[in-house]
Amino acid sequence: MGKINVLAISVANLIAAGEVVDRPASVIKELLENAIDSGANSITVEINNGGVTFMRVSDNGCGIEPEDLPVAVRRHATSKIKDAHDLEKIMTLGFRGEALAAIASVSNMRIISKQKNAEYGAMLEVSAGNIVSLSERGCSDGTTVIVEELFANVPARRKFLKKDLSEAIAVAAIVEKVALSRPDISFRFISDGNLKLESSGDGNLKNTIYSIFGKDFASKLIEVNGNIDGIAINGFVGRSDNVKSNRNSQNFFINGRYVKNKTMTAALEQAFCSYLPSEKFPCCVLFITLNPSVVDVNVHPSKLEVKFSNEKPIFELVYYSVRSALEQNTGRPSVNLERLPSQGSAGKVLSPFVPIDDGKRESMKKMQLSYDDIPIRSSASNDFTQKSELNLFADIQKQKQSLTEEKTSEEKDKECQSTLDLGDNYTAEQYIRDFINPLNEGKISCPIQLIDNLEDQSSEAELEALNSPESEPTFSWQIVGEVFNSYIIVQLEDKMLIVDKHAAHERIIFEELKAKMNSALHSSELLIVPIEVMLTSSEIEIIKQYRTEIEAIGFGFEEKAYSLNINMLPSGIASSDVADIFQTFADNILNSTGSATITRDIIFEKALYQVACKAAVKAGRAYPEGYNNWIVDKLMRIKDITVCPHGRPVAMEMSKKALDRQFERT
Ligand code: ADP
Ligand code: MG
Repeated sequence: MGKINVLAISVANLIAAGEVVDRPASVIKELLENAIDSGANSITVEINNGGVTFMRVSDNGCGIEPEDLPVAVRRHATSKIKDAHDLEKIMTLGFRGEALAAIASVSNMRIISKQKNAEYGAMLEVSAGNIVSLSERGCSDGTTVIVEELFANVPARRKFLKKDLSEAIAVAAIVEKVALSRPDISFRFISDGNLKLESSGDGNLKNTIYSIFGKDFASKLIEVNGNIDGIAINGFVGRSDNVKSNRNSQNFFINGRYVKNKTMTAALEQAFCSYLPSEKFPCCVLFITLNPSVVDVNVHPSKLEVKFSNEKPIFELVYYSVRSALEQNTGRPSVNLERLPSQGSAGKVLSPFVPIDDGKRESMKKMQLSYDDIPIRSSASNDFTQKSELNLFADIQKQKQSLTEEKTSEEKDKECQSTLDLGDNYTAEQYIRDFINPLNEGKISCPIQLIDNLEDQSSEAELEALNSPESEPTFSWQIVGEVFNSYIIVQLEDKMLIVDKHAAHERIIFEELKAKMNSALHSSELLIVPIEVMLTSSEIEIIKQYRTEIEAIGFGFEEKAYSLNINMLPSGIASSDVADIFQTFADNILNSTGSATITRDIIFEKALYQVACKAAVKAGRAYPEGYNNWIVDKLMRIKDITVCPHGRPVAMEMSKKALDRQFERT
């Protein structure tokens, strides 16, 4: 090893530049942040060849004094902080004083700037870190930074740049994030002479989202607002039909800065847990505003990562705000049948019956879902509830009578599998076993319970209390029929509703169990003969840890050496499902524990999704008519049921108008 040298400033700058500037997109990010910090309300970004040969960022902000221009390109030169204390209250995007120095050291750079009250502006020219000239300039207020031939003096770095198109996409992604972060600033992005993005700068976040992601995305959003202990959240999350297969559309901003943060991502995804299929990711544009002293943005030179002094309140704020926004959302997806191809001739009469053959399959595949923004309106009142319960009474009594006579002890079904094949073969025995078990008659989650409750005043009162958050359906609806033993067709004023009976029942059970937990009401069935559920000792241990929650939803159990004796069931849960349910509890809780941010109630709630799935009616099986009535009635009362706990839609609607259009009546 030789003698130790202190590197020349220019070499040190070059080394440091690598941390801040690694591609055109990072240059644009830094220049945009400077433009925003300057107080501009209009910013234009132009690039050629993905930014590799040319980048220009112009703003109408405060400008830089001519004599400050050479200082601005020195390392650790900043007007945004003065001392270490200022690091605790950073409200600007920049503060490290590194960006201009870094960019200048690896490119040819020109800064043209004029302050508002100055007569003239000035231009500073820097090449590979060396100041070439500083001259007076006549120019408009604000600052324009031009960066050419990035990494011309660092061939090793230039070699690593991707194709121009990839670099242009990366720049566009940065401009999008920055534009999203400031709806009050008008952004324009031009790539190779083409205008790619323009935001209005009118301060309306939804308009900004529209101009960046388009109408479809902007129309499928749910507003989020919340405030806990002085930390505020606001913005939007995508609905369940506005999801992605990666996390690229998750946009989090802290005090206006776009950041990536695992805590917030985890909280968002947890909140979406029962609203989204597991392989999909939610989208969001969420702003968190907090005291800058509780967040450290100085974790990495790119300032993309942040550290919170305490992660818990952030997790809870995001989780509960998003969750409550999802729970309050009552929008249902609408069925959008794509027009069948007219084979070139306008006005050609379509075949009245279109079988799905290979040629048509494509058009059927295109059947899309989209949300109808108009929530269900209430109009004429409906006395269905009472009538249906009475009709139901007769129905169910008949069912009970005929089925009880036939009951046998067949082995249990495999639950939660695709049961379409069972279709018509679903037997009365299975029905008894699943829903009229002699040990556990009377369930609140199936029609039979309604009857039992009519007879039993005390449990009726309980049920009413349990159902109190539900609203009386005041609009008229009627069940038209059921197709494939899976989808209930409902006519609802001027709309047709297609209800996935399993998904709907699953959500209803889930909501009821959750309501029980919160209201501490018990409508349980005491079992004369307890049900023994075999579990491993670790599974029993985990169930014991969640005894309070499990008991709160109406289960009762005693612990044995290698099993649990279940002696109480919540109404609505069939005894045949109990073993599966306890296994599900144990599996889910075991899989979810271990993360510090995921709280106990979230873990339990996740386990409940699975429990609800096990206990719900199965698609593909025929059930007595009363079941469908009961499910739809519930669905009408609990309006915010939109997706099942696994994130699949519960019901879709199609307006008469849309149907008329399909048949060319309009
Ligand atoms: P930082 O942003 O961390 O302060 P930079 O190297 O990005 O460091 O910029 C150095 C300084 O140059 C800034 O502190 C600011 O005073 C000035 N500056 C840079 N860009 C602009 C701009 N677009 N408008 C006004 N001032 C600017
Ligand atoms: Mg900066």
